[in-house]
Amino acid sequence: MNLSAFGNAKKQIDLVVPLLEKNYSDKKMFKKAIVRLKKPDRFLKKKLTITLDNGKKRSFWGYRSQHNNARGPYKGGIRFHPDVNEDEVKALSTWMSIKCAVVDIPYGGGKGGISVNPRELSKKELELLTRKYANFLTPHIGPWIDVPAPDVNTDEQIMAWALDEYEKRIKRHAPATFTGKAIELGGSLGRTEATGRGGLFVLESYTRKTKMTPVKTKITVQGFGNVGYWFAKLASAADFRIVAVSDSSGAIYDSKGLNIEKLAKLKEKLGSFSEVAKKTKLKLITNDELLALDVDILVPAALENAITQDNANKVRAKVILEMANGPTTPEAEEILLKKGIDIIPDVLCNAGGVTVSYFEWVQNLHGYRWTKEKVNEDLKTILEKAFEDVYSLVKKKKISYRLSAYSLAVRRIVDAMILRGRV
Ligand code: NAD
Repeated sequence: MNLSAFGNAKKQIDLVVPLLEKNYSDKKMFKKAIVRLKKPDRFLKKKLTITLDNGKKRSFWGYRSQHNNARGPYKGGIRFHPDVNEDEVKALSTWMSIKCAVVDIPYGGGKGGISVNPRELSKKELELLTRKYANFLTPHIGPWIDVPAPDVNTDEQIMAWALDEYEKRIKRHAPATFTGKAIELGGSLGRTEATGRGGLFVLESYTRKTKMTPVKTKITVQGFGNVGYWFAKLASAADFRIVAVSDSSGAIYDSKGLNIEKLAKLKEKLGSFSEVAKKTKLKLITNDELLALDVDILVPAALENAITQDNANKVRAKVILEMANGPTTPEAEEILLKKGIDIIPDVLCNAGGVTVSYFEWVQNLHGYRWTKEKVNEDLKTILEKAFEDVYSLVKKKKISYRLSAYSLAVRRIVDAMILRGRV
């Protein structure tokens, strides 16, 4: 079984080569560009050592992968998680290049992270580690170089410490270096819920095409962090029926539909869905059972490699809307496509976050603030256009949504590389 996320990302690029090759008269140049796309432009790695509250020293690995900047500065989140490693960071940076190209915003792809369980650190230790990491990144980032943002387990506070450290080093303000900032530091209205909202725009575009009615559309959501929560909340407000949501402790299920706001409050009070189930009459099922529910749409919104060849056969949903990055392995995708399941890929579904990050960057560069209405309106325009581009190619070439999105993106990136004379 191939569980290398970067291996999966490279495989996904390889799959579009036969579709694109005929567009290029210079096949050698095209092949060279593809080889280059399968490795990051630059990979940075450093051991970060901090003094803990108890006076002892502890080291953590920090990474940044700058994948490709032919279309614009590198752009991508910073993840704090014990599983962060070189392979994962490289994969995520590749998907960022693809994602920015699918929605046609002027960025390349980057990604970074620290291999750490932030829950084991005090607030002071977390600040120290973030500042060490920002220090390490300083010579390699900037508004026109590489623009980091939050990802799993990182938030506005982490961005605030990172920005502050960076600005101290460069001795001037440069808010456009980081996105996902607090409003007080130049963050954009609408950024917090942007990934979930973008997912809803993609879902609505898809259900309009396939003539599915929201109230009759049953949805399960795996993961209830920033992405899963906001997606579930907004989809529920748009009349879709969310029948199950999960966190790492398990899933809450009700075939009649869940009250997402009420559930979010209970989870906040009690800590996890397994605790929520213990203290209420709500039904708890396992994450494996959630994947096997007979619903219309399954939304993986937790981590990568959630659907593999081991559990793909159990999936009974008709559509998978990938809100997490890389939740479906290529082996699982083969099985699912044979079963006739439409997989709307991560690089389209969760692009709302980076799109509003792009709006934040634009606002910072102009020293101006947009209204929330403008942010949401422009997000809708960009994602609906991207869905339309992907959908027309799906229909024209009779290919999967992922192949369509990847061919659009790889073509845009390769064209930029060729124009620049990089290959
Ligand atoms: P988060 O840390 O806020 O939430 C992750 C959620 O997943 C938590 O509820 C956690 O309990 C749950 N989870 C973890 N392991 C699980 C498991 N085995 N089964 C079920 N649930 C599990 O993270 P997030 O920001 O919501 O990001 C989720 C995914 O979306 C990641 O793949 C991330 O890269 C991607 N993504 C995030 C954004 C963003 O704006 N935050 C943008 C694009 C993509």
